[in-house]
Amino acid sequence: MTDPRPLLMIPGPIEISPAVQAAYSVPPPSHTAPDLIEAFGTCLERMRRVWRAEASAQPFLFAGGGTAAMEMAAVNLLEPGERALVVATGYFSDRMVEMLRRLGAEVEVVRAAVGDAPSPAEVAEALAALGRRGPVKALFATHVDTSTGVLLDPEPLAGLAREAGVLSVFDGVCATAGERFEMAEWGADVYLTASQKALGLPPGLALLVASERALEARAGRRAAAPPMALDWHEWLPIHRAYEERRPSYFSTPATNLVLALAVGLEEILAAGMEARWEVHRTAAERLRTAWAELGLKAVPVRPELAAHTLSALRFPEGVDAALVGRIAALGVVVAGGLHPAIKSEYFRVGHMGYAVTRPEMLARTVRAVARALEDAGRPGDGPAALAALETTAAAG
Ligand code: PMP
Repeated sequence: MTDPRPLLMIPGPIEISPAVQAAYSVPPPSHTAPDLIEAFGTCLERMRRVWRAEASAQPFLFAGGGTAAMEMAAVNLLEPGERALVVATGYFSDRMVEMLRRLGAEVEVVRAAVGDAPSPAEVAEALAALGRRGPVKALFATHVDTSTGVLLDPEPLAGLAREAGVLSVFDGVCATAGERFEMAEWGADVYLTASQKALGLPPGLALLVASERALEARAGRRAAAPPMALDWHEWLPIHRAYEERRPSYFSTPATNLVLALAVGLEEILAAGMEARWEVHRTAAERLRTAWAELGLKAVPVRPELAAHTLSALRFPEGVDAALVGRIAALGVVVAGGLHPAIKSEYFRVGHMGYAVTRPEMLARTVRAVARALEDAGRPGDGPAALAALETTAAAG
């Protein structure tokens, strides 16, 4: 029997678990209600565990999206005229560049061709070159760029930033809780995300965890305070109060989403972070084999650059963006291209959160893509693609 509701397989928002939906679907609690205070405090404690952050790191959680989380990191860390390096792997890294320039920062960019990523050696070189002009404040990188499906390894980048005395900020909007991230062990300073991706919630929350070093950078700021709605100094007392289970107010939190987040984070932690990353890795590997059986090639130029949270897939010869509509007509919603340089040449399938724990959702997606390709006159091996979902591809 087919589900009459389309399956949402874009790279966010995504399908959410029934428990998260139930937690969200209640009459809105007050921001000072005891159950809301308890949920908020619990969320902050659980965020540290999902981020693998130190006890001294500070989680922030507020109504907004990924862009607001990016902006919160930028405005608290950078003062006008300060230098920053952006490792660019797609549309969202370019957004970071624009955001930093608007703040009056001196921004240098290290980039590779679309679908590729700069190597740590290239990043180190770019950081050293920028450092010759004067002190560098921060390095920004996108863990998974949703426009290209390119996955970066944050560990060496966080390491070389530490060595150079530079803060490191990672945009994990399309990665957090889907890709391995070890904030404390790697020494990263900010890891930010939004609720609608691998965390498995509806859109509406901006989330980040800041290291002690990052908080000190804000505390030692010489320029005028950052915009009020994003200023860590406005939010710190609120978050500390919630964690101590005291009511507090600066700006009204998205109370239903906070209730849902407590449940979502509990689901993630119940399995454990290793298992959470593994279920995304396995699903991605199986899908990668399935796409190959359908004759689809990935935008990331090497397998190790391919994200585990989404697939960015080039249209085969003779197929165009109408394929996305054909897939939708079969009851599965996937996304078109986003990166301006290749926008009309590829499409994107999200595979994160609840869907990767539901084999039937992945199978429904592969079936719809296979059928749409057939309808478009470029059939692949559908049965082999479906069979690939049953077995893990050889590692590597
Ligand atoms: N960064 C990345 C990597 C993203 O994928 C997105 C959203 N697709 C954003 C930032 C911006 O998030 P939002 O749309 O919630 O503002």
